[in-house]
Amino acid sequence: MHSATPYTNQNTKHFSRKKFLSATGKYLAAGAIGTIAASIKADQAHAQAPGNIPQDVEDPIVLEKWKSEYDQQSGPVPTPLPPDRRIGYAVVGLGHLSLEEILPALGSCKKSKLVALVSGTPDKMKKVAAQYGIAEANCYSYQTYDKLKDNKEVDVIYIVLPNSMHKEFTVRGAAAGKHILCEKPMAVSQAECREMIEACNKAKVKLMVAYRIQYQPHNRKLRELVQKKEFGQVKFVDAFNCQSSANPDHWRHKKALAGGGALPDIGLYCLNTTRFVLGEEPTEVFAYQYSTPGNPLFREVEEMVSWQMRFASGVVASCATHYNAHESRRYRVMCERGWLDMNKAYAYKGQDLMTAKADGMMELQQNIGLAEKNQFALEMDHFSDCIIKNKRPFTPGEEGLQDQILMEAIYQSAKEGKPVKVASAVTNQSLHGPEPELS
Ligand code: NAD
Repeated sequence: MHSATPYTNQNTKHFSRKKFLSATGKYLAAGAIGTIAASIKADQAHAQAPGNIPQDVEDPIVLEKWKSEYDQQSGPVPTPLPPDRRIGYAVVGLGHLSLEEILPALGSCKKSKLVALVSGTPDKMKKVAAQYGIAEANCYSYQTYDKLKDNKEVDVIYIVLPNSMHKEFTVRGAAAGKHILCEKPMAVSQAECREMIEACNKAKVKLMVAYRIQYQPHNRKLRELVQKKEFGQVKFVDAFNCQSSANPDHWRHKKALAGGGALPDIGLYCLNTTRFVLGEEPTEVFAYQYSTPGNPLFREVEEMVSWQMRFASGVVASCATHYNAHESRRYRVMCERGWLDMNKAYAYKGQDLMTAKADGMMELQQNIGLAEKNQFALEMDHFSDCIIKNKRPFTPGEEGLQDQILMEAIYQSAKEGKPVKVASAVTNQSLHGPEPELS
């Protein structure tokens, strides 16, 4: 006698293999089912792992299961720390990123909370403070910033200013005894990055660069599949990040404030994510750079950079970034027996992970349907976790310095028109802290 379960499973397996044939959208959607089920199981296991439960939450809530494993599930029940035990953040700079992403994300954090603001525009800060319930006493100007030293509610300073201001506000913040979370790019030169690392070490505070992609579930999943060699050896990576700009007066188009154009702003995602996914450091770069003559947007900073990176394993990555092309953010990792493709790879949400695997005469394509999570909340909660548990951040200052070293080599190569060797004693692992416990 056969029970219903094995019969259903066998049928499902047969059904999926047929539908997975390299294929139309209909087949691809069917293919996603198996993967969603697998990822739900993974999520459930993840939710139950004791390591993922904040140390301070002794008794997490577990709800009764009621959906089939083939239907999309929600994530685990949030287990936030009580407000008085969360890490307090002061956010410096109230521009697009802070107002549109970071401040709202703090509302969905489990271990982090907003406690102070720093801005050069008092009227704007007053409005924002009212919206987020921040007392006037916890609002600072760039001049009174150093007084954060006396504010016991503030544990972390999150620097969200134009790139060339990151160093000054990191050094002053560390001197005030606060841990520093700094937006990317870390600074505008490797000398500045080194100064920031030294200042934080001297003050015995932690320094993390806000590489949100390294905390984003789809990008982490892709990296896991690559590093487990699920598709065989990696052979080649193709990555690009493009967007169009409109305002030549914006700081992003001023060399002194931005440090460069498309490369440090959006090309950096291709560089950093490729290194993250491969777990390897490039040994050589070869670049080409272009700016349309006479375009006022590109009087001071470059419009596009295209570059190749060669790794010791033999992998070559081909990357490109453009400040004057319609938005497109994607990478693909080509392997011996398949490929992994991430569309909307560097966007704030909507990552779309597709894989293809050779199976005899067939190509099995899958869409890996992971639950969407707020990348900024994951990133900030990871930093808070490092402070609570006294751990090295997964993306410390050394990770930002390495990108700066590589960007300088890319510019040098574009200028000289020849490959530039990157003499590096560091491994990708040495540039990271322990794997983050994300929930
Ligand atoms: P923005 O122009 O929207 O905001 C910058 C803020 O800095 C404004 O509030 C502005 O008033 C203030 N400021 C102080 N001094 C200034 C000066 N001299 N010139 C211009 N502005 C000055 O920029 P943004 O998009 O919020 O970017 C801020 C930082 O965040 C940058 O380092 C950027 O690279 C980074 N960023 C990261 C991401 C990400 O996804 N992690 C996304 C966007 C921006």
